[in-house]
Amino acid sequence: MTEALAADDAGLARAAELLRAGGLVGFPTETVYGLGADATDEAAVAAIFAAKQRPRFNPLICHYADAAAAFDAVQATPLAERLAAAFWPGPLTLVLPRREGCPVALLAGAGLATLAVRVPAHPLAARLLRAVGRPLAAPSANRSGRISPTTAAHVAASLGGRIAAILDGGACAVGVESSVVDLSGEQPVLLRPGGVSRAAIEAVTGALGSPEAGARHSPGLLASHYAPLLPLRLNAREIGPEEALLAFGSPLAGAGVVFNLSPRGDPTEAAARLFAGLHWLDAEAQRRGLRALAAMPVPSRGLGEAINDRLRRAAWRQPGTTSASSDG
Ligand code: AMP
Ligand code: MG
Repeated sequence: MTEALAADDAGLARAAELLRAGGLVGFPTETVYGLGADATDEAAVAAIFAAKQRPRFNPLICHYADAAAAFDAVQATPLAERLAAAFWPGPLTLVLPRREGCPVALLAGAGLATLAVRVPAHPLAARLLRAVGRPLAAPSANRSGRISPTTAAHVAASLGGRIAAILDGGACAVGVESSVVDLSGEQPVLLRPGGVSRAAIEAVTGALGSPEAGARHSPGLLASHYAPLLPLRLNAREIGPEEALLAFGSPLAGAGVVFNLSPRGDPTEAAARLFAGLHWLDAEAQRRGLRALAAMPVPSRGLGEAINDRLRRAAWRQPGTTSASSDG
């Protein structure tokens, strides 16, 4: 069911073909094996979370063939340019604000206004990115909570039968994940230690802040950027006259403004439409003078659990506060 692809021209061409069609492909990077999907395809990105059985939508790293392509998607700073020149291609991930019109799926960034980008050094990853011609969103290619895979056999053991293919590039050289540096605030912050040492990064950036320095830097944080401005009511079983409806399955009777996450009741489809749906519904409800959003219950099977986690946090947010939570 999961195709085993060799590290040759035919294997690369097949991997690229599957990815361009929205499939999931395990591929080697110099850090660990990534579970890749077309980062511009919301449904493909949702399929990553489904395959990994992640209980939460944490933001994924987007992989690019070169720095120019990465900096088309995010707003580079002079410091970002210097880090890229020093460490790309290589095991360093930079978190930067998304550019206006950035084509990467909102779900890949978990709805945040920032995006994590990296240019991997593994020659096979570089060739695959060029062949696909699109960025690849790729977390480690293991089920949630399992150790990160450094061989194709690890990927097959964890995800075999659940993904389209695995491109076998042998064992990963680095074996630990990339270092993640957040450059979106005033001071650069090391969010995750990894393949490039803190000392090497600080030789370029000066002293790095720690994640605790600012709660908004925490990985997995639900940023206010994507929480709706209008209050959100959960588990709605009827709809009020001043409410807009976030529907799942058959919409409740009587709703005027509706965004249906998945008319057919499919949690993976709903995940793919969640962030865009919240943005649209929030804006449309305000435009029509409505006062609140009401979300129909989403069953917790499959990605329903992660959807409910995000909806709960969006609903709990008080003005001027954020709630943080991280997930591995
Ligand atoms: P993984 O995909 O498993 O290698 O993990 C990606 C890492 O990058 C996690 O620690 C994420 O929380 C972090 N990350 C990705 N995107 C962002 C972002 N926009 N803001 C902050 N952290 C991020
Ligand atoms: Mg991981």
